[in-house]
Amino acid sequence: MSISNIINLKTIMFRVGTLRLTRKHAATFGYCALLLLPFIAAESLGMVYEGLYSSVLGAITLIAMTAFFVQFPLAGRLKAVPLFSNIDWSVAKHKRLGQYLGLFFFVHPLLILAPKMMMSFDDFSASFISMLTAPQLLTGLIAWLMMLAWVLMAIYKDKLTIRYETWRLLHIVGFGVITTLATLHVTTVGSHGQFNAHFNGVWWALYMFSILLLVYNYLIKPRKIQRQPFAITAINKISTCDWQLTIKPAMQQRFAYEAGQFAWLNTSGSAYNLEQHPFSIASEHNDQAHLSFIIRELGDYTSSLAQLSVGQTVFVDGPYGSMSLAQSSTASGITLIAGGAGIAPMVSLLRELAKRNDARPIRLIYANKNLQRMVCIDELIALEQSMHNFKLQLVCEQVIEQKDVNQVYRNGDTPPLDIQQGYVDKPHISASISAGQQQDWSVYLCGPEAMMTATSKHLTHLGISSGQVHFEQLAF
Ligand SMILES: Cc1cc2nc3c(=O)[nH]c(=O)nc-3n(C[C@H](O)[C@H](O)[C@H](O)COP(=O)(O)OP(=O)(O)OC[C@H]3O[C@@H](n4cnc5c(N)ncnc54)[C@H](O)[C@@H]3O)c2cc1C
Repeated sequence: MSISNIINLKTIMFRVGTLRLTRKHAATFGYCALLLLPFIAAESLGMVYEGLYSSVLGAITLIAMTAFFVQFPLAGRLKAVPLFSNIDWSVAKHKRLGQYLGLFFFVHPLLILAPKMMMSFDDFSASFISMLTAPQLLTGLIAWLMMLAWVLMAIYKDKLTIRYETWRLLHIVGFGVITTLATLHVTTVGSHGQFNAHFNGVWWALYMFSILLLVYNYLIKPRKIQRQPFAITAINKISTCDWQLTIKPAMQQRFAYEAGQFAWLNTSGSAYNLEQHPFSIASEHNDQAHLSFIIRELGDYTSSLAQLSVGQTVFVDGPYGSMSLAQSSTASGITLIAGGAGIAPMVSLLRELAKRNDARPIRLIYANKNLQRMVCIDELIALEQSMHNFKLQLVCEQVIEQKDVNQVYRNGDTPPLDIQQGYVDKPHISASISAGQQQDWSVYLCGPEAMMTATSKHLTHLGISSGQVHFEQLAF
Protein backbone atom coordinates (compact mmCIF):
# COMPACT_ATOMS: atom_id res chain seq x y z
CA MET A 1 0.00 0.00 0.00
CA SER A 2 1.45 3.40 -0.97
CA ILE A 3 1.94 6.32 1.42
CA SER A 4 -0.86 8.23 -0.28
CA ASN A 5 -3.18 5.28 0.39
CA ILE A 6 -2.29 5.21 4.06
CA ILE A 7 -2.47 8.92 4.77
CA ASN A 8 -5.02 10.73 2.70
CA LEU A 9 -4.67 14.31 3.92
CA LYS A 10 -7.59 15.51 1.87
CA THR A 11 -10.11 13.33 3.69
CA ILE A 12 -8.13 13.51 6.93
CA MET A 13 -8.49 9.80 7.42
CA PHE A 14 -5.99 7.83 9.42
CA ARG A 15 -5.85 4.04 9.42
CA VAL A 16 -4.22 2.33 12.38
CA GLY A 17 -4.81 -1.40 12.04
CA THR A 18 -8.58 -1.67 11.97
CA LEU A 19 -9.08 1.73 13.68
CA ARG A 20 -10.19 4.43 11.26
CA LEU A 21 -10.13 8.00 12.52
CA THR A 22 -12.28 9.91 10.05
CA ARG A 23 -12.70 13.65 9.76
CA LYS A 24 -16.00 13.26 11.64
CA HIS A 25 -14.24 11.48 14.53
CA ALA A 26 -11.63 14.24 14.62
CA ALA A 27 -14.39 16.87 14.70
CA THR A 28 -16.21 15.03 17.53
CA PHE A 29 -12.96 14.83 19.47
CA GLY A 30 -12.23 18.55 18.92
CA TYR A 31 -15.79 19.43 19.90
CA CYS A 32 -15.60 17.45 23.18
CA ALA A 33 -12.22 19.03 24.01
CA LEU A 34 -13.74 22.49 23.45
CA LEU A 35 -16.60 21.74 25.85
CA LEU A 36 -14.16 20.85 28.62
CA LEU A 37 -12.28 24.19 28.54
CA PRO A 38 -14.49 26.20 31.00
CA PHE A 39 -14.57 23.13 33.29
CA ILE A 40 -10.75 22.98 33.24
CA ALA A 41 -10.61 26.78 33.84
CA ALA A 42 -12.95 26.44 36.88
CA GLU A 43 -10.90 23.57 38.28
CA SER A 44 -7.62 25.45 37.83
CA LEU A 45 -9.10 28.52 39.58
CA GLY A 46 -9.92 26.24 42.50
CA MET A 47 -13.72 26.06 42.36
CA VAL A 48 -15.06 24.12 45.35
CA TYR A 49 -18.41 22.32 45.51
CA GLU A 50 -20.19 20.93 48.55
CA GLY A 51 -20.35 17.15 48.22
CA LEU A 52 -20.25 14.69 45.34
CA TYR A 53 -23.76 15.44 44.01
CA SER A 54 -23.13 19.17 43.58
CA SER A 55 -19.64 18.50 42.11
CA VAL A 56 -21.10 16.24 39.42
CA LEU A 57 -24.06 18.56 38.76
CA GLY A 58 -21.71 21.59 38.68
CA ALA A 59 -19.43 19.90 36.13
CA ILE A 60 -22.36 18.84 33.93
CA THR A 61 -23.88 22.35 34.08
CA LEU A 62 -20.55 23.92 33.07
CA ILE A 63 -20.23 21.57 30.10
CA ALA A 64 -23.89 22.03 29.08
CA MET A 65 -23.60 25.83 29.25
CA THR A 66 -20.46 25.68 27.08
CA ALA A 67 -22.27 23.38 24.64
CA PHE A 68 -25.10 25.93 24.52
CA PHE A 69 -22.65 28.65 23.36
CA VAL A 70 -21.00 26.28 20.88
CA GLN A 71 -24.44 25.83 19.24
CA PHE A 72 -23.76 29.20 17.53
CA PRO A 73 -20.65 28.17 15.54
CA LEU A 74 -22.23 24.76 14.85
CA ALA A 75 -25.03 26.54 12.93
CA GLY A 76 -22.79 29.37 11.73
CA ARG A 77 -21.70 28.16 8.24
CA LEU A 78 -18.04 28.65 9.29
CA LYS A 79 -16.21 26.96 6.44
CA ALA A 80 -12.90 28.68 7.31
CA VAL A 81 -12.78 27.11 10.81
CA PRO A 82 -11.72 23.44 10.41
CA LEU A 83 -13.73 22.22 13.43
CA PHE A 84 -17.00 23.61 12.01
CA SER A 85 -16.23 23.44 8.28
CA ASN A 86 -18.13 20.18 7.67
CA ILE A 87 -21.53 21.80 7.56
CA ASP A 88 -23.51 18.54 7.30
CA TRP A 89 -21.84 17.28 10.48
CA SER A 90 -22.19 20.67 12.22
CA VAL A 91 -25.88 21.13 11.44
CA ALA A 92 -26.71 17.51 12.41
CA LYS A 93 -24.90 18.03 15.76
CA HIS A 94 -26.58 21.43 16.28
CA LYS A 95 -30.01 19.82 15.86
CA ARG A 96 -29.39 16.76 18.00
CA LEU A 97 -27.49 18.55 20.80
CA GLY A 98 -30.11 21.32 20.86
CA GLN A 99 -32.67 18.70 21.91
CA TYR A 100 -30.42 17.26 24.65
CA LEU A 101 -29.55 20.73 25.92
CA GLY A 102 -33.24 21.70 25.93
CA LEU A 103 -34.00 18.62 28.03
CA PHE A 104 -31.09 19.26 30.41
CA PHE A 105 -31.96 22.92 31.01
CA PHE A 106 -35.62 21.95 31.46
CA VAL A 107 -34.74 19.61 34.35
CA HIS A 108 -31.91 21.89 35.62
CA PRO A 109 -33.99 23.57 38.43
CA LEU A 110 -35.28 20.17 39.55
CA LEU A 111 -31.74 18.75 39.62
CA ILE A 112 -30.63 21.64 41.84
CA LEU A 113 -33.52 21.02 44.23
CA ALA A 114 -33.37 17.20 44.11
CA PRO A 115 -31.36 16.84 47.37
CA LYS A 116 -34.00 18.94 49.18
CA MET A 117 -36.76 16.79 47.71
CA MET A 118 -35.04 13.70 49.16
CA MET A 119 -35.01 15.24 52.66
CA SER A 120 -38.42 16.89 52.93
CA PHE A 121 -41.18 17.73 50.48
CA ASP A 122 -41.99 20.93 52.42
CA ASP A 123 -38.38 22.16 52.04
CA PHE A 124 -38.49 21.31 48.36
CA SER A 125 -41.78 23.16 47.68
CA ALA A 126 -40.64 26.22 49.69
CA SER A 127 -37.36 26.35 47.69
CA PHE A 128 -39.22 25.80 44.42
CA ILE A 129 -41.61 28.70 45.14
CA SER A 130 -38.72 31.01 46.14
CA MET A 131 -36.94 29.97 42.92
CA LEU A 132 -39.96 31.06 40.88
CA THR A 133 -40.41 34.35 42.76
CA ALA A 134 -36.87 35.53 43.68
CA PRO A 135 -36.07 38.73 41.69
CA GLN A 136 -32.43 37.68 41.14
CA LEU A 137 -33.66 34.50 39.43
CA LEU A 138 -35.97 36.31 37.01
CA THR A 139 -33.46 36.27 34.11
CA GLY A 140 -32.98 32.50 34.59
CA LEU A 141 -36.72 31.91 34.80
CA ILE A 142 -37.49 33.80 31.57
CA ALA A 143 -34.57 32.09 29.80
CA TRP A 144 -35.85 28.71 31.06
CA LEU A 145 -39.42 29.29 29.79
CA MET A 146 -38.23 30.67 26.44
CA MET A 147 -35.75 27.82 26.00
CA LEU A 148 -38.54 25.30 26.49
CA ALA A 149 -40.78 27.04 23.92
CA TRP A 150 -37.99 27.60 21.36
CA VAL A 151 -36.61 24.06 21.55
CA LEU A 152 -40.14 22.67 21.02
CA MET A 153 -40.57 25.05 18.07
CA ALA A 154 -37.33 23.71 16.56
CA ILE A 155 -38.30 20.06 17.08
CA TYR A 156 -41.77 20.55 15.58
CA LYS A 157 -40.86 23.17 12.96
CA ASP A 158 -42.27 21.08 10.09
CA LYS A 159 -45.63 20.85 11.88
CA LEU A 160 -45.91 24.62 12.48
CA THR A 161 -48.08 26.54 10.03
CA ILE A 162 -45.48 29.29 9.58
CA ARG A 163 -43.04 29.77 6.71
CA TYR A 164 -39.51 28.33 7.11
CA GLU A 165 -38.04 31.88 6.92
CA THR A 166 -40.36 33.16 9.69
CA TRP A 167 -39.34 30.20 11.87
CA ARG A 168 -35.66 30.89 11.17
CA LEU A 169 -35.98 34.57 12.10
CA LEU A 170 -37.77 33.64 15.34
CA HIS A 171 -35.10 31.00 16.05
CA ILE A 172 -32.22 33.48 15.65
CA VAL A 173 -33.81 36.37 17.59
CA GLY A 174 -35.22 34.05 20.29
CA PHE A 175 -31.91 32.34 20.96
CA GLY A 176 -30.14 35.73 20.95
CA VAL A 177 -32.47 36.79 23.81
CA ILE A 178 -32.18 33.43 25.63
CA THR A 179 -28.36 33.63 25.46
CA THR A 180 -28.36 37.17 26.93
CA LEU A 181 -30.65 36.15 29.81
CA ALA A 182 -28.81 32.87 30.44
CA THR A 183 -25.44 34.67 30.57
CA LEU A 184 -26.82 37.21 33.07
CA HIS A 185 -28.16 34.29 35.10
CA VAL A 186 -25.00 32.18 35.10
CA THR A 187 -22.77 35.17 36.00
CA THR A 188 -24.90 36.40 38.91
CA VAL A 189 -26.44 33.46 40.77
CA GLY A 190 -25.55 29.97 41.95
CA SER A 191 -22.17 28.47 42.68
CA HIS A 192 -20.79 29.50 39.29
CA GLY A 193 -22.03 33.10 39.32
CA GLN A 194 -20.67 33.84 42.77
CA PHE A 195 -17.44 31.92 42.35
CA ASN A 196 -14.92 34.23 40.72
CA ALA A 197 -15.11 37.45 38.65
CA HIS A 198 -12.34 36.16 36.33
CA PHE A 199 -14.31 33.02 35.70
CA ASN A 200 -17.40 35.06 34.80
CA GLY A 201 -15.18 36.63 32.14
CA VAL A 202 -15.16 33.24 30.39
CA TRP A 203 -18.97 33.34 30.06
CA TRP A 204 -18.98 36.95 28.88
CA ALA A 205 -16.28 36.14 26.31
CA LEU A 206 -18.36 33.20 25.01
CA TYR A 207 -21.44 35.46 24.96
CA MET A 208 -19.64 38.19 22.97
CA PHE A 209 -18.33 35.57 20.55
CA SER A 210 -21.88 34.20 19.97
CA ILE A 211 -23.37 37.65 19.37
CA LEU A 212 -20.48 38.68 17.10
CA LEU A 213 -21.05 35.52 15.09
CA LEU A 214 -24.70 36.50 14.58
CA VAL A 215 -23.61 40.02 13.55
CA TYR A 216 -21.08 38.52 11.13
CA ASN A 217 -23.55 36.05 9.60
CA TYR A 218 -26.52 38.38 9.24
CA LEU A 219 -24.88 41.80 8.65
CA ILE A 220 -21.24 41.53 7.56
CA LYS A 221 -21.30 38.39 5.40
CA PRO A 222 -24.36 39.48 3.35
CA ARG A 223 -22.48 42.72 2.57
CA LYS A 224 -19.64 40.67 1.06
CA ILE A 225 -22.10 38.42 -0.82
CA GLN A 226 -24.00 41.47 -2.15
CA ARG A 227 -20.76 42.76 -3.72
CA GLN A 228 -20.31 39.54 -5.72
CA PRO A 229 -23.66 38.94 -7.44
CA PHE A 230 -24.46 36.27 -10.00
CA ALA A 231 -26.95 36.60 -12.87
CA ILE A 232 -29.40 34.02 -14.24
CA THR A 233 -28.40 32.84 -17.71
CA ALA A 234 -31.11 30.18 -18.15
CA ILE A 235 -34.11 28.78 -16.33
CA ASN A 236 -35.82 25.78 -17.94
CA LYS A 237 -38.33 23.17 -16.92
CA ILE A 238 -36.63 19.80 -17.50
CA SER A 239 -39.26 17.32 -16.20
CA THR A 240 -42.82 17.42 -14.95
CA CYS A 241 -41.56 18.84 -11.63
CA ASP A 242 -37.88 19.81 -12.00
CA TRP A 243 -36.12 22.94 -13.18
CA GLN A 244 -32.60 23.62 -14.34
CA LEU A 245 -31.26 26.98 -13.22
CA THR A 246 -28.00 28.27 -14.63
CA ILE A 247 -26.19 31.32 -13.29
CA LYS A 248 -22.87 33.04 -13.94
CA PRO A 249 -20.76 35.49 -11.90
CA ALA A 250 -21.85 39.04 -12.80
CA MET A 251 -18.45 40.53 -11.87
CA GLN A 252 -16.23 37.75 -13.34
CA GLN A 253 -15.41 36.75 -9.74
CA ARG A 254 -13.96 33.31 -9.01
CA PHE A 255 -16.18 30.73 -7.38
CA ALA A 256 -14.12 27.60 -6.70
CA TYR A 257 -15.99 24.48 -5.64
CA GLU A 258 -15.73 20.70 -5.71
CA ALA A 259 -18.21 18.49 -7.59
CA GLY A 260 -20.80 17.35 -5.00
CA GLN A 261 -20.92 20.61 -3.00
CA PHE A 262 -23.90 22.91 -2.55
CA ALA A 263 -24.64 26.61 -2.09
CA TRP A 264 -27.39 28.79 -0.66
CA LEU A 265 -29.17 30.75 -3.41
CA ASN A 266 -31.01 33.98 -2.77
CA THR A 267 -33.11 35.46 -5.58
CA SER A 268 -34.96 38.01 -3.42
CA GLY A 269 -32.92 40.99 -4.67
CA SER A 270 -31.21 41.59 -1.30
CA ALA A 271 -28.38 39.55 0.21
CA TYR A 272 -29.77 40.45 3.66
CA ASN A 273 -33.08 38.67 2.99
CA LEU A 274 -33.49 35.42 4.94
CA GLU A 275 -35.24 33.77 1.96
CA GLN A 276 -32.31 31.67 0.74
CA HIS A 277 -32.34 27.99 -0.17
CA PRO A 278 -29.60 25.35 -0.29
CA PHE A 279 -29.15 23.56 -3.64
CA SER A 280 -26.46 21.17 -4.85
CA ILE A 281 -24.29 22.40 -7.69
CA ALA A 282 -24.93 20.13 -10.66
CA SER A 283 -22.18 21.46 -12.89
CA GLU A 284 -18.76 19.87 -12.90
CA HIS A 285 -15.88 21.15 -10.77
CA ASN A 286 -14.43 24.51 -11.84
CA ASP A 287 -16.86 25.15 -14.65
CA GLN A 288 -16.06 28.79 -13.91
CA ALA A 289 -18.31 30.28 -16.53
CA HIS A 290 -21.56 28.87 -15.18
CA LEU A 291 -23.05 27.15 -12.15
CA SER A 292 -26.07 24.96 -12.79
CA PHE A 293 -28.67 23.61 -10.36
CA ILE A 294 -31.41 21.00 -10.72
CA ILE A 295 -34.33 22.01 -8.54
CA ARG A 296 -37.45 20.03 -7.70
CA GLU A 297 -40.77 21.74 -6.93
CA LEU A 298 -41.29 20.83 -3.30
CA GLY A 299 -42.74 23.91 -1.58
CA ASP A 300 -43.52 27.64 -1.80
CA TYR A 301 -40.22 28.83 -3.26
CA THR A 302 -39.38 25.89 -5.49
CA SER A 303 -42.90 25.94 -6.97
CA SER A 304 -42.52 29.56 -8.06
CA LEU A 305 -39.32 29.21 -10.10
CA ALA A 306 -41.27 30.10 -13.28
CA GLN A 307 -41.23 33.68 -11.98
CA LEU A 308 -37.44 33.90 -12.26
CA SER A 309 -36.13 35.57 -15.39
CA VAL A 310 -32.88 35.59 -17.36
CA GLY A 311 -30.59 38.43 -16.20
CA GLN A 312 -32.08 38.48 -12.69
CA THR A 313 -29.60 38.84 -9.81
CA VAL A 314 -28.83 35.85 -7.59
CA PHE A 315 -26.74 36.00 -4.42
CA VAL A 316 -24.72 32.89 -3.66
CA ASP A 317 -23.41 31.81 -0.27
CA GLY A 318 -21.07 28.88 -0.67
CA PRO A 319 -19.72 26.47 -1.57
CA TYR A 320 -20.46 24.18 1.36
CA GLY A 321 -20.61 20.44 1.95
CA SER A 322 -18.04 17.73 2.33
CA MET A 323 -19.21 15.32 -0.38
CA SER A 324 -16.50 15.17 -3.06
CA LEU A 325 -14.58 12.75 -5.26
CA ALA A 326 -11.59 13.02 -2.89
CA GLN A 327 -13.55 10.71 -0.57
CA SER A 328 -13.33 7.90 -3.11
CA SER A 329 -9.81 8.47 -4.42
CA THR A 330 -8.66 4.99 -3.31
CA ALA A 331 -11.90 3.10 -4.11
CA SER A 332 -11.82 0.48 -6.86
CA GLY A 333 -15.32 1.39 -8.05
CA ILE A 334 -18.07 3.92 -7.40
CA THR A 335 -21.84 3.52 -7.03
CA LEU A 336 -23.90 6.70 -7.13
CA ILE A 337 -27.44 6.40 -5.74
CA ALA A 338 -29.88 9.24 -6.36
CA GLY A 339 -33.53 9.66 -5.48
CA GLY A 340 -35.59 12.55 -6.96
CA ALA A 341 -33.84 15.89 -6.34
CA GLY A 342 -30.79 13.92 -5.13
CA ILE A 343 -29.72 13.58 -8.77
CA ALA A 344 -28.13 17.08 -8.74
CA PRO A 345 -24.90 16.28 -6.81
CA MET A 346 -24.66 12.87 -8.55
CA VAL A 347 -24.75 14.53 -11.99
CA SER A 348 -22.00 16.86 -10.80
CA LEU A 349 -19.82 13.94 -9.59
CA LEU A 350 -20.49 12.00 -12.78
CA ARG A 351 -19.66 14.95 -15.06
CA GLU A 352 -16.43 15.39 -13.12
CA LEU A 353 -15.57 11.66 -13.40
CA ALA A 354 -16.24 11.85 -17.16
CA LYS A 355 -14.04 14.94 -17.47
CA ARG A 356 -11.22 13.08 -15.69
CA ASN A 357 -11.66 9.99 -17.94
CA ASP A 358 -11.92 7.89 -14.80
CA ALA A 359 -11.47 4.26 -15.85
CA ARG A 360 -12.95 2.68 -12.72
CA PRO A 361 -16.36 0.97 -12.88
CA ILE A 362 -18.98 3.63 -12.14
CA ARG A 363 -22.69 2.91 -11.62
CA LEU A 364 -25.61 5.27 -11.21
CA ILE A 365 -28.86 4.03 -9.66
CA TYR A 366 -31.41 6.78 -10.23
CA ALA A 367 -34.83 6.41 -8.60
CA ASN A 368 -38.00 8.41 -9.09
CA LYS A 369 -41.76 8.00 -8.81
CA ASN A 370 -42.13 7.72 -12.60
CA LEU A 371 -40.09 8.08 -15.78
CA GLN A 372 -41.47 11.55 -16.49
CA ARG A 373 -39.64 12.80 -13.41
CA MET A 374 -36.22 11.60 -14.60
CA VAL A 375 -33.89 14.42 -15.69
CA CYS A 376 -30.75 14.59 -17.88
CA ILE A 377 -31.59 11.16 -19.38
CA ASP A 378 -30.12 12.02 -22.81
CA GLU A 379 -26.86 13.12 -21.20
CA LEU A 380 -26.70 10.04 -18.94
CA ILE A 381 -27.22 7.71 -21.91
CA ALA A 382 -24.55 9.57 -23.88
CA LEU A 383 -22.16 9.20 -20.92
CA GLU A 384 -22.94 5.48 -20.78
CA GLN A 385 -21.71 5.25 -24.36
CA SER A 386 -18.71 7.58 -24.06
CA MET A 387 -17.33 6.75 -20.60
CA HIS A 388 -14.95 3.86 -20.09
CA ASN A 389 -17.07 1.82 -17.69
CA PHE A 390 -20.27 3.58 -16.68
CA LYS A 391 -23.71 1.97 -16.37
CA LEU A 392 -27.02 3.63 -15.64
CA GLN A 393 -29.92 1.94 -13.90
CA LEU A 394 -33.29 3.66 -13.55
CA VAL A 395 -35.69 2.59 -10.80
CA CYS A 396 -39.34 3.67 -11.02
CA GLU A 397 -41.91 3.37 -8.29
CA GLN A 398 -44.77 3.22 -10.81
CA VAL A 399 -45.37 0.67 -13.59
CA ILE A 400 -43.35 1.53 -16.72
CA GLU A 401 -44.96 1.51 -20.15
CA GLN A 402 -43.22 1.71 -23.53
CA LYS A 403 -44.97 5.03 -24.32
CA ASP A 404 -43.35 6.53 -21.18
CA VAL A 405 -39.93 5.36 -22.34
CA ASN A 406 -40.49 6.92 -25.78
CA GLN A 407 -41.65 10.15 -24.18
CA VAL A 408 -38.59 10.44 -21.92
CA TYR A 409 -36.03 9.48 -24.52
CA ARG A 410 -36.75 11.92 -27.31
CA ASN A 411 -33.58 11.40 -29.33
CA GLY A 412 -34.95 9.14 -32.08
CA ASP A 413 -34.62 5.38 -31.53
CA THR A 414 -35.28 4.14 -28.03
CA PRO A 415 -31.98 2.94 -26.53
CA PRO A 416 -31.74 -0.18 -24.35
CA LEU A 417 -32.45 1.53 -21.03
CA ASP A 418 -32.10 -0.56 -17.86
CA ILE A 419 -35.32 0.27 -16.00
CA GLN A 420 -36.49 -1.58 -12.88
CA GLN A 421 -39.83 -1.17 -11.18
CA GLY A 422 -40.06 -0.63 -7.40
CA TYR A 423 -37.73 1.03 -4.90
CA VAL A 424 -33.93 1.03 -4.68
CA ASP A 425 -33.36 -2.36 -3.12
CA LYS A 426 -30.54 -4.62 -1.95
CA PRO A 427 -30.36 -6.55 -5.27
CA HIS A 428 -30.02 -3.26 -7.24
CA ILE A 429 -27.12 -2.09 -5.08
CA SER A 430 -25.49 -5.50 -4.90
CA ALA A 431 -25.67 -5.88 -8.72
CA SER A 432 -24.00 -2.47 -9.14
CA ILE A 433 -20.87 -3.52 -7.24
CA SER A 434 -18.34 -5.93 -8.75
CA ALA A 435 -18.63 -9.34 -7.05
CA GLY A 436 -16.64 -9.64 -3.83
CA GLN A 437 -15.52 -6.00 -3.90
CA GLN A 438 -17.97 -4.59 -1.34
CA GLN A 439 -15.11 -3.49 0.93
CA ASP A 440 -13.31 -1.57 -1.82
CA TRP A 441 -16.09 0.48 -3.41
CA SER A 442 -17.34 3.89 -2.47
CA VAL A 443 -21.04 4.71 -2.45
CA TYR A 444 -22.50 8.21 -2.81
CA LEU A 445 -26.09 8.69 -1.70
CA CYS A 446 -28.53 11.59 -1.97
CA GLY A 447 -32.32 11.66 -1.91
CA PRO A 448 -35.43 12.07 0.24
CA GLU A 449 -35.09 11.10 3.91
CA ALA A 450 -37.14 7.87 3.68
CA MET A 451 -35.07 6.64 0.74
CA MET A 452 -31.79 7.53 2.48
CA THR A 453 -32.82 5.62 5.62
CA ALA A 454 -33.92 2.51 3.69
CA THR A 455 -30.85 2.55 1.43
CA SER A 456 -28.45 3.01 4.36
CA LYS A 457 -29.93 -0.17 5.92
CA HIS A 458 -29.43 -2.08 2.65
CA LEU A 459 -25.82 -0.89 2.46
CA THR A 460 -25.15 -2.07 6.03
CA HIS A 461 -26.69 -5.48 5.25
CA LEU A 462 -24.45 -5.74 2.20
CA GLY A 463 -21.38 -5.27 4.44
CA ILE A 464 -20.59 -1.75 3.21
CA SER A 465 -19.23 0.23 6.15
CA SER A 466 -20.32 3.78 6.98
CA GLY A 467 -16.81 5.03 6.10
CA GLN A 468 -17.42 3.91 2.48
CA VAL A 469 -20.73 5.78 2.21
CA HIS A 470 -20.75 9.53 1.47
CA PHE A 471 -24.08 11.30 1.54
CA GLU A 472 -25.84 14.63 1.31
CA GLN A 473 -29.18 15.21 2.97
CA LEU A 474 -31.76 17.39 1.26
CA ALA A 475 -33.04 18.95 4.49
CA PHE A 476 -31.45 20.50 7.55
C1 LIG B 1 -27.59 20.54 1.48
C2 LIG B 1 -28.87 20.59 0.68
C3 LIG B 1 -28.82 20.46 -0.70
C4 LIG B 1 -30.00 20.49 -1.43
N1 LIG B 1 -29.94 20.35 -2.79
C5 LIG B 1 -31.07 20.37 -3.51
C6 LIG B 1 -31.03 20.22 -4.94
O1 LIG B 1 -29.97 20.11 -5.55
N2 LIG B 1 -32.21 20.25 -5.59
C7 LIG B 1 -33.42 20.40 -4.95
O2 LIG B 1 -34.46 20.40 -5.61
N3 LIG B 1 -33.49 20.54 -3.61
C8 LIG B 1 -32.35 20.54 -2.87
N4 LIG B 1 -32.41 20.70 -1.51
C9 LIG B 1 -33.74 20.91 -0.88
C10 LIG B 1 -34.17 22.37 -1.03
O3 LIG B 1 -33.31 23.21 -0.30
C11 LIG B 1 -35.59 22.53 -0.48
O4 LIG B 1 -36.45 21.71 -1.22
C12 LIG B 1 -36.07 23.95 -0.62
O5 LIG B 1 -35.30 24.81 0.19
C13 LIG B 1 -37.53 24.00 -0.20
O6 LIG B 1 -37.97 25.34 -0.19
P1 LIG B 1 -39.52 25.68 -0.49
O7 LIG B 1 -39.80 27.06 -0.02
O8 LIG B 1 -39.84 25.37 -1.89
O9 LIG B 1 -40.30 24.63 0.38
P2 LIG B 1 -40.83 24.75 1.87
O10 LIG B 1 -42.14 24.06 1.91
O11 LIG B 1 -40.74 26.14 2.38
O12 LIG B 1 -39.77 23.89 2.62
C14 LIG B 1 -39.80 22.48 2.64
C15 LIG B 1 -38.73 22.04 3.63
O13 LIG B 1 -37.45 22.33 3.05
C16 LIG B 1 -36.56 22.79 4.08
N5 LIG B 1 -36.15 24.16 3.77
C17 LIG B 1 -36.87 25.17 3.26
N6 LIG B 1 -36.13 26.27 3.13
C18 LIG B 1 -34.91 25.95 3.58
C19 LIG B 1 -33.71 26.68 3.74
N7 LIG B 1 -33.62 27.96 3.41
N8 LIG B 1 -32.63 26.03 4.27
C20 LIG B 1 -32.70 24.75 4.63
N9 LIG B 1 -33.81 24.00 4.51
C21 LIG B 1 -34.90 24.60 3.99
C22 LIG B 1 -37.31 22.77 5.39
O14 LIG B 1 -37.04 21.54 6.07
C23 LIG B 1 -38.75 22.80 4.97
O15 LIG B 1 -39.59 22.18 5.90
C24 LIG B 1 -31.25 20.68 -0.76
C25 LIG B 1 -31.29 20.83 0.62
C26 LIG B 1 -30.11 20.79 1.34
C27 LIG B 1 -30.16 20.96 2.84
